[in-house]
Amino acid sequence: MQTVGGGIIADISSGLEPVPVALEYSSQEKLDELQAVHTRYIVHSIIPGREDDRACYYDGCDCSSTSATNLCLNESRCGCIAMHGCYYTRTTPPLLTLLLDLQPSNSPTPPIYECNSSCACPPTCSNRLVQHGCRVPVRVFHTGTARGWSVQVMRAVRRGEFVCEYAGEVVRAREIRKRRWGEGSEGTGTGNYVLCLREYVCVWLLLILYILEPSENGAQALRTNIDPTTTANLGRYINHSCSPNLSLFPVRVDSVVPLVGMFAYRDIAEGEELGFDYAGVIGYGDEVAPSNGEETENGRTRCLCNAGAGVCRGWLPFDARL
Ligand SMILES: [Zn+2]
Ligand SMILES: [Zn+2]
Ligand SMILES: [Zn+2]
Repeated sequence: MQTVGGGIIADISSGLEPVPVALEYSSQEKLDELQAVHTRYIVHSIIPGREDDRACYYDGCDCSSTSATNLCLNESRCGCIAMHGCYYTRTTPPLLTLLLDLQPSNSPTPPIYECNSSCACPPTCSNRLVQHGCRVPVRVFHTGTARGWSVQVMRAVRRGEFVCEYAGEVVRAREIRKRRWGEGSEGTGTGNYVLCLREYVCVWLLLILYILEPSENGAQALRTNIDPTTTANLGRYINHSCSPNLSLFPVRVDSVVPLVGMFAYRDIAEGEELGFDYAGVIGYGDEVAPSNGEETENGRTRCLCNAGAGVCRGWLPFDARL
């Protein structure tokens, strides 16, 4: 990592993201504290057994064209769109955004399937977004309060735009329990959370069928646990908010294990802090397990978001099963 000027690292991703991820720190002590825990920057979640495995689980489309701006947007032409649906659109001025209005609020969203490494289409096709990494220049900074580190956007973001992934290590529930309660879990005190993405599937159909109500009746949840403590992207610095401006969506590229894409749920002004609802905004319920070092009561952690009285729920969600 290179330090530029007093207290700003120009890009903590060291060029891995397509846009700079700046980090501003108030003291060397704060930076040392942070870097002792967050030891590795990654762009995409690390799926066990796949770190060096580029094999793709899915078939690809055979779209190809030299004028490719609208490639893989049309189900009559693209096998990926015909099979999995179309979730992205191109707006004017040209910007690839998520079709948020496809889903009524508070209903679960099916996963997004992007074009993958089996596809014939180029990296510029309209069905590749999350796989390219963070799209919006951001600044990580310390709030100087108990909320700790936070992330603000350095330009205005339009509703539906992809901001960044919530990337970390994909871990099994048993491993989370070991990390939280077993040896070596003491004293991290970094206020980080394991994000548990739950997608509901009806297994009796032997097909992945996403039901319309976030209920476990007749369906089982597919869980993907992402631990961002030591190995993560900028997503680990984005705080919970009871009035969030980001939504999380499962996004599959080459693997059946989804990546978690964070999209703007509404227009976001330049300089605004990013926040997502740890209890889920659209559709599936994602839950979190508090790490050590935060004010807790009966296993719950006090919410420090700025949403205000009547909107803030007071406590963060907590999955007692972990
Ligand atoms: Zn295609
Ligand atoms: Zn494509
Ligand atoms: Zn494709």
